[in-house]
Amino acid sequence: MKPTSRPLISLLLTAAVIATPLAVLAQVQHAHVHGQIKLDVVVDGPTVVIEMESPLDNFTGFERAPRTDAEKKAAETVVAQLRAADQIFRIDPVANCKLGPVTLRSPALGLGEAEGASPEGHADLDGTFAFNCTNAGAAKFIDIGLFSAFKGPRQIEAQIASPQGQFKRSLKRPAERLAWSK
Ligand SMILES: [Zn+2]
Repeated sequence: MKPTSRPLISLLLTAAVIATPLAVLAQVQHAHVHGQIKLDVVVDGPTVVIEMESPLDNFTGFERAPRTDAEKKAAETVVAQLRAADQIFRIDPVANCKLGPVTLRSPALGLGEAEGASPEGHADLDGTFAFNCTNAGAAKFIDIGLFSAFKGPRQIEAQIASPQGQFKRSLKRPAERLAWSK
């Protein structure tokens, strides 16, 4: 080995050491736990945007394309409930919000593409729910109707980024109020 190649090798080793924790982190972020829903709430300017990541099982009890008429009907009902997102996410009235665009992603239900690969044999139902508000920054809570509307979810892990700061909150069934403030 030429002495000049040593710095390159040590550089590659350093890169490998740095890359490993990132790969592990990426796996953890895509972990899919039945009963759990992740919400990212961003209050920015006049908008409140809620990003939801959930196992499809939480809503339908299965994680594949619906097969029977009953399963198809159940899936259609879930999609309709989530599209009526102002019934599911009831934002602090002081913010005066109106529901804007809703995007649902669940390849198993023929809805767009999910972010990241689902674990083998599993499927997600993810969504983006946007609200337009006259006083978004004043919002201090959202009443979340996911537990009452669906039997599957048991826990919600939420992150909130608002002009009032960044917050992490965990809600366990049957708690509904996701609250934050300074
Ligand atoms: Zn699953």
